[in-house]
Amino acid sequence: MIRDLGDIYMVEGKKKRIVILGAGVTGLSAGIRYLDNGCDVTILEKADHAGGLARTVVRGDYRLDIGPHHLFSQNEAILQEMIDLFEKDELISFSRDAKIYFHDRFLDYPLTAKNVIFNMGLKHALFTSISVVWTSLLKLFTKKRREANFKEWATTNFGSYLYGIFFKPYTEQFWGVSCEELSLDCIPQTSKMSFAKTLKLIFLKKFEKESLSVAERETSLTLYYPIKGIGAIVEKLEKSFLSKGGKIKLSCDVSELITNKDGSFNIHFQYERETVVDDVNLVLSTIPISSLAQILRPLASPEIIQRANSLEYLSTIVLYIVIHERDVLDCAYLYMMDRPYNRISNTNRFHHKLCPEGENMLALELTCHFNDKTWNSSDEELFEKCIDYLESDNFISRNEVKQYLTVRIKNAYPFYRLNYKNNLTEIFKYFKNIPNLSLAGRIGAFKYMDIDQCLEDTSELVERHKKEGTI
Ligand SMILES: Cc1cc2nc3c(=O)[nH]c(=O)nc-3n(C[C@H](O)[C@H](O)[C@H](O)COP(=O)(O)OP(=O)(O)OC[C@H]3O[C@@H](n4cnc5c(N)ncnc54)[C@H](O)[C@@H]3O)c2cc1C
Repeated sequence: MIRDLGDIYMVEGKKKRIVILGAGVTGLSAGIRYLDNGCDVTILEKADHAGGLARTVVRGDYRLDIGPHHLFSQNEAILQEMIDLFEKDELISFSRDAKIYFHDRFLDYPLTAKNVIFNMGLKHALFTSISVVWTSLLKLFTKKRREANFKEWATTNFGSYLYGIFFKPYTEQFWGVSCEELSLDCIPQTSKMSFAKTLKLIFLKKFEKESLSVAERETSLTLYYPIKGIGAIVEKLEKSFLSKGGKIKLSCDVSELITNKDGSFNIHFQYERETVVDDVNLVLSTIPISSLAQILRPLASPEIIQRANSLEYLSTIVLYIVIHERDVLDCAYLYMMDRPYNRISNTNRFHHKLCPEGENMLALELTCHFNDKTWNSSDEELFEKCIDYLESDNFISRNEVKQYLTVRIKNAYPFYRLNYKNNLTEIFKYFKNIPNLSLAGRIGAFKYMDIDQCLEDTSELVERHKKEGTI
């Protein structure tokens, strides 16, 4: 049965009709902002729940974040906006607490020059220093040009020694491809800054105080964590969105987004076993770009579709290992190299109520590609893949494991392959020519963003629409 909602909305009035694809942080926060500006907003979400990447999966007495998260922002207004969503006792604060595990040593995260010199061990410190000095000398005699790939960037800024022992193993393990195949954008801007600046400052014999201050700035932001897991933020956003009159249609399958000559859209979707056709004035997409290209009518050219399909996302599996309450690591996050997992988190450092009293969980993050061997491994196979390393690193022993659980996330990270930017630029050019269609969010805009940046972007987007008179 086909239900045509178009007429109803047209009669209902002058309110701008907005459809948002995807009910993650971006979709929900944009929805709230459009509602605050008097629009009529519906979110269409493919999954049977809202929340996207910032969700906490509840399994019995265990609260499992989709990858351990915390809230933070350099933007005070956005930070306050996040804090204001919670009651005082629902949010705890702590300072950054992360380390890198490097050949049985615990180094600061982000890596600082001081740490390389004093904590990596004499051999590594010496070779790193020689290699950085050599690289700096070479740079004096070579013409400056932008590094072409991640390997070039890392070797140019840190020397080939540190690249070989640190950057290469960590990065290749994380992304699953060689550093030559990766764009520089695969490292978040903040890490680039702190790594490069702290090391360069000290090797170029500037003051250590100055180098520390860069690292300190990185680590000085207060982190917040909702005591019921990161998913509480999307629950708050969802509640606020619904209370303002927004509508969310879960388990919704959008088949066609037809662009009309007058700049409006007809959107076709399956919802509760019905095919629904809706007329809307404006569409915001936070879903994978290839999914958007598939539903858009008229269809984009084969070239654009091919470019859209070439944009990949890295997937993640989080293996939660439940043990008796014990502070296994003296930090919240531990970054790992040469292991099947890239990062271990100690969930009791986030909040002890994420699991029953007397227990703690280690969250091991394994990046992979959708449908690859790791993705298709059973929970038991994943556990077996990791437990021997945890034992040999003396973190836990097999017989103290009470149980293990996994959460799998298909589109977790935009995959910045070398040629991604060309493809993205062409795709953006194409979408820009479609009036009243916007792309936003970590997945929708193919941008490595945190929650605060999603909120910042939706704030700017809605302000822009207001100024342009689109809403
Ligand atoms: C492991 C990990 C750790 C992180 N840690 C932090 C952290 O500590 N702090 C922080 O601030 N940020 C962190 N982030 C980033 C943060 O989770 C994201 O920035 C944010 O959740 C992205 O929200 P979004 O709405 O843009 O995208 P998403 O959450 O991906 O939302 C997109 C939504 O679209 C839906 N969808 C997909 N396809 C369709 C379709 N065809 N039709 C309809 N709906 C569809 C999806 O189901 C999803 O709900 C982390 C991310 C990961 C993966």
